[in-house]
Amino acid sequence: MKIIVVSKRHGSTRSFTLGGWTRALLSACIVGIPVGAATFAVSYLTNESSDVMTADSAVAWNDSLEEQKVDVEQARNLAEKKVAAITLRVAELQARLVRLDALGERLTKMAKLDNGEFDFSSAPALGGPEQNLDESSYAPPDFQLVLEQLGQQIEDRQQQLNTLEALMAKRKLQNDVFLAGRPIKKGWMSSRYGRRSDPFNGRIAWHAGVDFAGKDGADIVAVAAGVVTWSGERYGYGELVEVNHGNGFKTRYAHCKSNLVKVGDVVKKGQIVALMGSSGRSTGPHVHFEVYKNGRTVDPSAYIHRTNR
Ligand SMILES: [Zn+2]
Repeated sequence: MKIIVVSKRHGSTRSFTLGGWTRALLSACIVGIPVGAATFAVSYLTNESSDVMTADSAVAWNDSLEEQKVDVEQARNLAEKKVAAITLRVAELQARLVRLDALGERLTKMAKLDNGEFDFSSAPALGGPEQNLDESSYAPPDFQLVLEQLGQQIEDRQQQLNTLEALMAKRKLQNDVFLAGRPIKKGWMSSRYGRRSDPFNGRIAWHAGVDFAGKDGADIVAVAAGVVTWSGERYGYGELVEVNHGNGFKTRYAHCKSNLVKVGDVVKKGQIVALMGSSGRSTGPHVHFEVYKNGRTVDPSAYIHRTNR
């Protein structure tokens, strides 16, 4: 490209020949001016419009703030509902504990246990080595403490009641092996223990038990818990059931119609062991009842008439 410059004053001319690079620079300048102006205008406008954008984003932020407020409010409502539920649960647990305490006290009285052995009115006794906790850095919320205390109380009561139950079960067992009552449900005593005239030959003989007369087939019951050591026919006794109660005690139920237990059976107090009959040396339906203490017969009436402990 060639550029000719004409001077007004002298009329002289000067010409320049522009090379590739200069030409490019010049055209860049020529094109650059409107582009720069346009850029300036646009940037000016954008400056103005950037103010508009800020207002928009403020609105957006406001909106998101509002949304967050709603979220926080929902979270608070949920937390409040949870706290209310926990409070309700705690109250329920406390009510249950009160009932448990009442039950415990009643059982303690029923079992005639020493005062103080089971105290359902005091707080549980607790212990254990001190754990070094920096208390200032952590303070559990109140309800958590209450829950923890309740948990400890429940644990304590549970243990006390379990022990109490075990004690009473043991006592019940002792009661069950304790000989008492009659070997029949219905009937009457027809012959006492001791010397009497034999019903078959009229001679004076020793009656080693007591007789209870009743209806044929009436129930014969064990007077205490124990293990069956004889069930079957035995000379003089007819159909006999013998029960060993431990502690040197044995009972015999004779002249049965049929035996309902077999040797080795564990029987409960009051369990029907046989039906009344007249087997063996007998004149009519009755049960001949014997009590053995350390291998010798004793008068059963002492055991028949004593009441359960
Ligand atoms: Zn008899």
